[in-house]
Amino acid sequence: MYGPKVPQDLIEPIKCEKCQAEIFELFHKMGKVSALRSPNGKELFTSSPIYRCTACGTFLELKESKEEEEEKQPSAIVTK
Ligand SMILES: [Zn+2]
Repeated sequence: MYGPKVPQDLIEPIKCEKCQAEIFELFHKMGKVSALRSPNGKELFTSSPIYRCTACGTFLELKESKEEEEEKQPSAIVTK
């Protein structure tokens, strides 16, 4: 019903950074582009999904783009 089935063992639960809870509520973060800046000259409204931990209320922002993870480990340069 919700797209391709994902084998259960591939799923890693996303946990709240603060309280480690795994249940989130969906909210919509709304935005507006004024008519002066809008590409079509009309006021535009945008919404993006945002999730909030039901236990402690912390918002979870999912990083959609795979940014380069910091692999540079400065720990190699250690002067004694
Ligand atoms: Zn939480």
